[in-house]
Amino acid sequence: MVRANKAHETPADPLDAMLARLQLTGIRDQLDSLLDEAARANLSARETLILLCEREIARKDHRRIEMGLKLAHFPAVKELAGFDFEAQPSIEPKQIRDLAASRWIANGENVLLLGPPGVGKTHLSIALGREAILAGYTVQFTTATTLVAGLVKAYGERRLDEKLLALSKPKLLIIDELGYLPLEPDAAHLFFQLVSRRYESGAMLITSNRSVAEWGTVFADPVVATAILDRLLHHSHVLTIRGDSYRLRAKRKSGLIRPLAGDGPPVGSASLRPATGGNTLQQRS
Ligand code: ADP
Ligand code: MG
Repeated sequence: MVRANKAHETPADPLDAMLARLQLTGIRDQLDSLLDEAARANLSARETLILLCEREIARKDHRRIEMGLKLAHFPAVKELAGFDFEAQPSIEPKQIRDLAASRWIANGENVLLLGPPGVGKTHLSIALGREAILAGYTVQFTTATTLVAGLVKAYGERRLDEKLLALSKPKLLIIDELGYLPLEPDAAHLFFQLVSRRYESGAMLITSNRSVAEWGTVFADPVVATAILDRLLHHSHVLTIRGDSYRLRAKRKSGLIRPLAGDGPPVGSASLRPATGGNTLQQRS
């Protein structure tokens, strides 16, 4: 941003240099207009300092969030505010709001969002990732296919350690669409290494159209599947979303297509439903 009053803007301006050295560039860039604003509002010296600090903090926060959103590589812009909870009665708004507070990320816990296509898994994962960024955490979004392809490639190039290290850096790793394609045994083993690396240190949010009971098929090898689930479920929040695809809702409403008895692959099988009646399994030991 350019200063309103350029008259004082000489390279030799000591205030300019000091503000730059303190990295208070928000104040530096808007100093004249901020001081004008303070004068117009008859602010005391202390109130003026508060105004300057507030603007600097707002600008730093804004930049940090913009950068965080860019680094996360979300495939779309989705927010919790845009999620219609009434259209999705199998999700409890309070539970999502609790997750949005991001404590689970601080604790290195995991969230599994399970359900058939179109019920809002990707939407919620982006929205929760966004909340995590607002709360100051680093987030990376990827699909299971991209992730596994990257791991296989790195392994082939003898760079697996480097790749695993990079994937253990973000405080929250979101892996979308696990289970759409079954993984080869080698790939499943590489995925296991990632899960082990992040276990109890970095949070993961995984979405899948497969119930946990079906993960043996997803990972080709039931032994690897059990080892992966063991770590993933240890500190986890499992949300099973049921119901019709939101994408097809409008069409269905207009009578373009018939309602489905069960939309998509079978998720929410009995083995996933908690005995307590809620839709969350909180497994902590
Ligand atoms: P999934 O990942 O479960 O297949 P998506 O999250 O991609 O589903 O949702 C499909 C589309 O429908 C997206 O554009 C998403 O924003 C929208 N959508 C799904 N559920 C809801 C909802 N309850 N409220 C608002 N939009 C929704
Ligand atoms: Mg999706």
